[in-house]
Amino acid sequence: TIKLSNLSKKFGDTVVLDDVSLEVAPGDVIALIGASGAGKSTFLRSINYLEAPDSGKVDIDGLHLDFAAISKADILNLRRKTAMVFQQFNLFERRTALENVMEGLIQVKKLDKVVAATQAAQELAKVGLSDRMDYYPKFLSGGQKQRVGIARALAMKPELLLLDEPTSALDPELVSEVQESIVQAAKSGQTMIIVSHEMDFVYNVATKVIFLEQGKIIESGTPEDVFYAPKHPRTKAFLARHT
Ligand code: ATP
Ligand code: MG
Repeated sequence: TIKLSNLSKKFGDTVVLDDVSLEVAPGDVIALIGASGAGKSTFLRSINYLEAPDSGKVDIDGLHLDFAAISKADILNLRRKTAMVFQQFNLFERRTALENVMEGLIQVKKLDKVVAATQAAQELAKVGLSDRMDYYPKFLSGGQKQRVGIARALAMKPELLLLDEPTSALDPELVSEVQESIVQAAKSGQTMIIVSHEMDFVYNVATKVIFLEQGKIIESGTPEDVFYAPKHPRTKAFLARHT
């Protein structure tokens, strides 16, 4: 079980994360929902220290870290246990799909090129891109680019996969192919936290839904609980706008 304890973060005088704690069990698919500015991206980015929380702790796969006193070595250790899928894909434009997936395997996992290429090809096959491995990102559709992003993240075999609105930059007709790849990863047991505004998708994929408001978790539960019996008036109001 991954434990995030008491994460807090301010930007200037604005409290963006307010003592957020969360336990993530193996295989959990946690959906993080909430209004724009609630702190969802900041929370996700804090988990792998792309954003530096002011305080808080993380326990993940034998690693016990205090964000208030984290060393450079531990930042790398933490990043080896997590992987991020970004809204804007963040692929290397000058590398092919295969090379994008190989990159972390070579640089971080220190695999040799042949082994990395084999594993990368397997991950691309899982997201249905066997026939696009040698394409550069500019020749891929948005949905294909994001599936490369997912393959790249999954290739690292992360303890925890973090996805920040992975389909919100896509044309509507490309959303479902990317959602399908995420569903497949979930079915294979990948533990993940996903930020999404697609409530149908959240309802179908999540094991647990968390509602964040002004940097606090104000409601959490199963999708059935949160969507059909929200307790907090702010959750009710949010869902009324988004479903
Ligand atoms: P959205 O749904 O729009 O993506 P979000 O829930 O992901 O919103 P965050 O991006 O985490 O929200 O932002 C939370 C708050 O922190 C916002 O008020 C935002 O303006 C502020 N914020 C985020 N990043 C910074 C930054 N680098 N400097 C200052 N303020 C920031
Ligand atoms: Mg965001």
